[in-house]
Amino acid sequence: MLKKEYGKDLSRLNTFGMKVTARYFYEYDSLADLLDLDFEELARPVKHIGGGSNLLFTGDFRGTILHSAVRFMEVLSQDASSVTVSVGSGVVFDEFCARAAENGWWGVENLSLIPGEVGASAVQNIGAYGAEVKDVIRTVFAYDTREGEMVHFDASDCAYAYRDSRFKHEDGRYIITHVVFSLSKQWSPRLDYGNLKAALGLEPDAPVPSSLTPMQVREAVIRVRNEKLPEVGKVGSAGSFFKNPVVSREKYEQICALVPGVRVPHYDVADGVKIPAGWLIEQCGWKGRRSGNAGVWGKQALVLVNATGQAEPEEIIRLEKQIVVSVRDRFGISLEPEVEHI
Ligand SMILES: Cc1cc2nc3c(=O)[nH]c(=O)nc-3n(C[C@H](O)[C@H](O)[C@H](O)COP(=O)(O)OP(=O)(O)OC[C@H]3O[C@@H](n4cnc5c(N)ncnc54)[C@H](O)[C@@H]3O)c2cc1C
Repeated sequence: MLKKEYGKDLSRLNTFGMKVTARYFYEYDSLADLLDLDFEELARPVKHIGGGSNLLFTGDFRGTILHSAVRFMEVLSQDASSVTVSVGSGVVFDEFCARAAENGWWGVENLSLIPGEVGASAVQNIGAYGAEVKDVIRTVFAYDTREGEMVHFDASDCAYAYRDSRFKHEDGRYIITHVVFSLSKQWSPRLDYGNLKAALGLEPDAPVPSSLTPMQVREAVIRVRNEKLPEVGKVGSAGSFFKNPVVSREKYEQICALVPGVRVPHYDVADGVKIPAGWLIEQCGWKGRRSGNAGVWGKQALVLVNATGQAEPEEIIRLEKQIVVSVRDRFGISLEPEVEHI
């Protein structure tokens, strides 16, 4: 069925809780309904959204918002060591993680509780606790709105990189309809990142018990995330607001000199040194601060929040600009938003 609405209230379709509307809103629950749409006729701009958890609506949307309600999970094949599952784009990603854990399948347990839907997971290459969704994606199926045909891409053709894919760069050309994942039935926990071992009651150097299940890892991930991130539905946010900047080693040394006696957190990457944007923001004194109805989350400075639930888009943008200016003034680094402004 194709559901069409005019002047649709989007406040429940974006996790920031911006009270904005879409001129036209179309939601389809089958591939046939999507293919029935006449894309030439849709009011522009056209934007396909998922759960709106990586978006900042900057005002009412004057074109057409599309949303998938294609919700199925189907096992295509399995043997003793692996399982191949096809999942509709409108399935909540965490529901897929829960189903995998319940079945004892490894691969998405570290991605538990990441907000959003399966279609967007393949756009964003979501990641957490040392895992990225690209590692379990086998094939992405999409509707090519330019050519008017269904296409599919092997994971190796999706140009996956850190929170990036080809789908982010082709201006809405592809609408992802379903994703085929390959999960493992063989014991394969990944606990080296963050404090997952501690959350499971394990010492850093202790061996991982062979009795550990994907469900236990999932539950630990959920505990850790709930401790530091705002709960979706209670506090408006879009998760990490800024990208972690990559600087040259020389620039990194300059930053260290600016904060004598303080260890500057960093990771070496191929093209330089990555510094957590949250640390830079915290150093500028923003953690937990409010600016009108907008604020910086007290447990993680990388997250901007709709602190009162009443924030207007302009208030979030004003806070974003203030943070960018203060990090630039203090460290000479220009932060860029991770969250897409539409
Ligand atoms: C509290 C919180 C914590 C978060 N933690 C993490 C984290 O740990 N790791 C992480 O990676 N992300 C995290 N995020 C960001 C967010 O959850 C992901 O980016 C997620 O994949 C967005 O999914 P969505 O369905 O909400 O997509 P949306 O935000 O609605 O859309 C994201 C992009 O995908 C496109 N898109 C959506 N559906 C389709 C489709 N079917 N076909 C084609 N394009 C589509 C949209 O046009 C848009 O460009 C967090 C967000 C929040 C609010």
